[in-house]
Amino acid sequence: MRRSPDELAKMRKAGRVVAEIHEATRAAIRPGVTTAELNEVAAAVLEKRHARSNFLNYNGFPAVICTSPNDMIVHGIPGDVVLHEGDIISVDCGAIVEGYHGDAAYTTGVGAISAEAKRLIEVTERSLWAGIDQLVVGNRLHEVGRAVQRVAEAAGYGVVREYVGHAIGTEMHENPQVPNYWPGTPGPTLKSGMVFAIEPMVNVGTYDTYTLDDGWSVMTADGSLSAHFEHTIAVTDDGPEVFTVL
Ligand code: MG
Ligand code: MG
Repeated sequence: MRRSPDELAKMRKAGRVVAEIHEATRAAIRPGVTTAELNEVAAAVLEKRHARSNFLNYNGFPAVICTSPNDMIVHGIPGDVVLHEGDIISVDCGAIVEGYHGDAAYTTGVGAISAEAKRLIEVTERSLWAGIDQLVVGNRLHEVGRAVQRVAEAAGYGVVREYVGHAIGTEMHENPQVPNYWPGTPGPTLKSGMVFAIEPMVNVGTYDTYTLDDGWSVMTADGSLSAHFEHTIAVTDDGPEVFTVL
């Protein structure tokens, strides 16, 4: 779907709120903080900006952010989990402003982290930007996944298959989906006004996953570390415009 300039202006506002949540939660991450406290930080930003959460009550999800440490890939529920020096933590969040959605995620270290964890975070973020670079008018959507996969696999990492990016607008998850790998069939041709959430999930080991008994927390099957980066981006005649940045 192609969004009008008026719709894109609203999505720009929603994206900015998401970026503010990223900034606030990043500043709160330190050894000893709980993931529930990070959720409260995010909720305070949403309230201050008069934005609604698209995460809270999504299929019954009980919080405004997802917090996924170490070998958890995505969808972790904030709670009494305490972050420790050397952990990595993925934070995924969204916002609704005037009926339009933003969605973005990042992974960061808690205090000093291992060289391997640093490399995973750096490669995953770089794979996101390689994907974003493909969001140009006339290109095909599957080139996003190919670019992400090229970066992640060149580093020897596994690209998660079961969870993917998506179009976004008046709903958080719209069609088409955006796999982070070559899906086997070509994607649609990109036109100005299309908006996507691109979100590589990259594991140090294999891409296989399993879900905990809470029905949400998605883990790496081999127990290896996982990182997740996401932005909401519009395809424009001037190239990709990332909405979820300050
Ligand atoms: Mg997200
Ligand atoms: Mg998303």
